[in-house]
This record gives sequence, structure tokens and C-alpha cells, in this order.
Amino acid sequence: MSDYDFDLFVIGAGSGGVRASRIAAAHGAKVAVAEEFRVGGTCVIRGCVPKKLLIYGAHFAEDLKDARRFGWNVPDCGFEWTTLRDNVLSEVDRLEGLYKNTLDNHKVEMIAERATVTGPHSVKLASGREVSAKTILIATGAWPIIPEMEGAEHGITSNEVFHLDECPSRIVIVGGGYIANEFAGIFHQFGAHVTMVNRGGTLLRGYDETVRDRLLQISTMKGINFRFNAKMEKIDKNEDGTLCVRFESGDPVAADLVLFATGRRPHTEGLGLETAGVELNDKGAIKVDDYSQSSCESIYAVGDVTDRLQLTPVAIREGHAFADTVFGGNRRKVDYNCVPSAVFSHPPLAGVGMTEAEARNKLGTVKIYTSDFRPMKNVLAGRDERALYKMIVDATTDRVVGLHMIGPDAPEILQAAAVAVKAGLTKQDFDDTVALHPSMAEELVLLK
Ligand code: NDP
Repeated sequence: MSDYDFDLFVIGAGSGGVRASRIAAAHGAKVAVAEEFRVGGTCVIRGCVPKKLLIYGAHFAEDLKDARRFGWNVPDCGFEWTTLRDNVLSEVDRLEGLYKNTLDNHKVEMIAERATVTGPHSVKLASGREVSAKTILIATGAWPIIPEMEGAEHGITSNEVFHLDECPSRIVIVGGGYIANEFAGIFHQFGAHVTMVNRGGTLLRGYDETVRDRLLQISTMKGINFRFNAKMEKIDKNEDGTLCVRFESGDPVAADLVLFATGRRPHTEGLGLETAGVELNDKGAIKVDDYSQSSCESIYAVGDVTDRLQLTPVAIREGHAFADTVFGGNRRKVDYNCVPSAVFSHPPLAGVGMTEAEARNKLGTVKIYTSDFRPMKNVLAGRDERALYKMIVDATTDRVVGLHMIGPDAPEILQAAAVAVKAGLTKQDFDDTVALHPSMAEELVLLK
């Protein structure tokens, strides 16, 4: 018999927490998971999943237009935001139900309350109930950051964007990262006038420069406005409910909605971690070792709250590896090398491995291969939008060390190609593979 109420108490039922709970339970642990909001976490409830569904919805704007060039007699079509919103939200409900079933099926006790840590082995629930556990896992994710400025309360974040009563006609999106670029594409396709406000001079820091530049060029061509090196001063709300975004220099921008997409901070505030001596870094993230163990021996953390790589599949891997390590007798780490990622902008971009700049710094001599082409479908549709694939090769070993692309279906294509990059295949291996014609992906084996 254990001296504790549970072998594992998980705080946060998002991607990392649910995976860890389920696997630990499958290894025979007695598990409880506390969640103050909804089961599924950011990804399922207000992130990747509803976002991707909006992307699909947004794509119809162009598809319907293009269809005419392919012979379809498409009448003028209207778009109804509330229909898409409600269908997306009910899909989210369905998925939340599946997550709950998974926990139930694994006999994980689900506690729909906020939980805070009160010591290395103890947790207090909002209802006042105190619980002990041999191991505690913090999987509370991250929370949108809103920069301080007058009138910031008039803006929203990605937490609220899926619930809008109506689609804005004019939107200002603050930030130049993942969320900003994805929602710029979405709202632009829904017919909104989009202005992106970036404090610096580059979009999507961390991605390959050539690919980022192509996104900027296509976005500008589509009619998205950009304000670079812009310092926002304040947001005024007019009597009619519309907003006016003011800058330290330059003209103000009128908007119906301001969306802050300015990064996400690890969700550690008020969790009581200090009571157990859990150390945080300067960004408020829980410091962990390779096995997700914090500075308190009995407390672990996975996912965005550790700010290693804020990506759902990474949180899932971390949760799984933690459960195998602590409850499955299989001590193992997550391999962060060659993690592919994508931005579901319009068009989407994706990358794996080193960017050209990183490779030049690390390897010295590199070979760069690019294919800059107009996808066949775009040609017939009369759409002047070019795709760009870029391969980075270590000149000494011929090994492909990076692959970056922007164009239709780039994330789908890159996921498959990432296997080859992760496996350390060479440019010659790519060349030896016969092209699958006609496809966009064949460009990868035809790079000269
Ligand atoms: P990102 O880190 O991608 O981008 C943040 C942006 O906000 C940057 O352009 C940054 O500028 C800017 N910024 C930061 N602070 C300020 C400030 N005080 N004032 C003005 N601008 C500011 O964050 P997101 O919010 O877009 O997304 C959060 C995380 O969620 C991402 O890092 C990603 O890991 C994850 N995510 C992943 C997705 C995917 O996989 N497709 C989709 C959506 C989110 P600067 O470059 O100058 O720092």
C-alpha cells in the first residue's frame, strides 16, 4: 500500500498532461488529473485544432474563385462566420469528449478544479480538498502575453478569437510569429482588411530567411498590410465600439478588432511551486532536466510550462517519456533534434533542421539547392503565387541538414521528408529516389 492518495497527480489536462496520465495509468499507477478549464488544453480547445479548421474554412475563399478557371460555374458566394464558428466549436466539444473518455478508460480520476502545489507531495484543490501524491506532474501550459500599454484591455488574444460574435471588417494583429501569421491569412480570406504590427523588422524569427521573405511577399501581394518596427502607443475605443490603434510615430490605424499574438508565457503564476522549492527560469518556466524532473525530486513538468519547444507533439512526447521513465521502468529522454514545424499561414510554410544561416555558422561549407516554381494548380487558376523549396546540405558529408518550404500543402510534404532528414540521408539519397510525377513534392528529388 502506498502512503499517498495517488502515485501520480497531474495538474493540467492538455496534450502533455493527458498523455502522461494515460501512459502512467497503463503502467499501473493510480493517477488523478486536475483541470480548471476544459480537457484537451490549448491545442484542442483554443489552439491547433480549431485554428486548423478555420484555415480549411478560409481556404474556400480562394478555392471557390479558382474553381471558375477549372470550369465550375460558381455563383457569388457569401460567407457566414457564425456557421463556421459554431461547427468548429462543436467539433471541439466532440474532441474534448474523446479526451475525457480516454482518461476514463484508463481509470484516471478527473478532477475539474484548479489545483495548487502545497509541498513536494501535496496539492490543494479549489474546493479545499487536500491530496497527496508520490509524484506530481505540472503540465499547465502557457498563457498569452499582452504587452503593457494604455487600452490593451480593448484587444483580445487567441483565447477569445474562436468565439467572436462576428467577423471583423478591419483587424489589427500585433506580433509577427506563428499566431499572427496564421490569423492574418484566416481573416484576410474571410474578407477582413488586415494590418500586422511588428515591433521588429522580421516575421517568424527562427525560420529560414528565404522562406520568410516569400511569405511576406505573397502576403503583401494579397493585400495584407504590414507595419514594421512599429511601437504601439495605445488603443482608443470610440463611442461606436470601434478601435483606433495609435503609434509613437506614423498614422493611427482604425480597427474593429485588435488581436495580440505576442508570445505565450509559461503558466506557473500562483501554482504554489515555491512551497516545494521548484525553480523557475527568468521567463517563469519550470527548470527541468532531460527527464523532465524539476529541482524538487518528486515534481516533474512537461510541455509549454517548461518552455523547451512550445509545440503540441513535443509536449506529448515529453509526457510519454516521463510516464515511461517514472512508472514504466524505461528511463528515456526526448530527442529534440530535427523537430519539424509549420506555420499554417496562407500559403503555409514548414521546416526541419538547420536554416541556411545556422548551417553556415555551424558547418562552414554548405550547399544550397532551391526550387522556385509556380504550382501547376496555381498556373491554371491564374494565381501568381510561387512556391519555394530549399535544401541545405553539409558540403563535406553530402548530408541534408535542413529542408524548408513554402507553398500549398508544405506541412504535409515536409512531415514525410522530415523522416529522411532525421535519418541523416544525403542529397544523393534524395536524387536516387525517382520522382512522383506530377506532384509538388517531386521537386525535392529534382533539386539541381
Ligand atoms: P511567437 O513567439 O511565434 O511570436 C511572438 C511575436 O510577438 C514575435 O513576432 C515577437 O516579436 C512579438 N512580440 C513579442 N513580445 C512583444 C511585445 N511586447 N510587443 C510587440 N510584439 C511582441 O508567439 P505566438 O504568440 O505567435 O505563438 C506562441 C507559441 O505557440 C509559438 O511560439 C509556437 O511555439 C506556438 N504555436 C505554434 C503553432 C504551430 O505549430 N503552427 C501555431 C500557433 C502557436 P520578436 O520577433 O521581435 O520577438
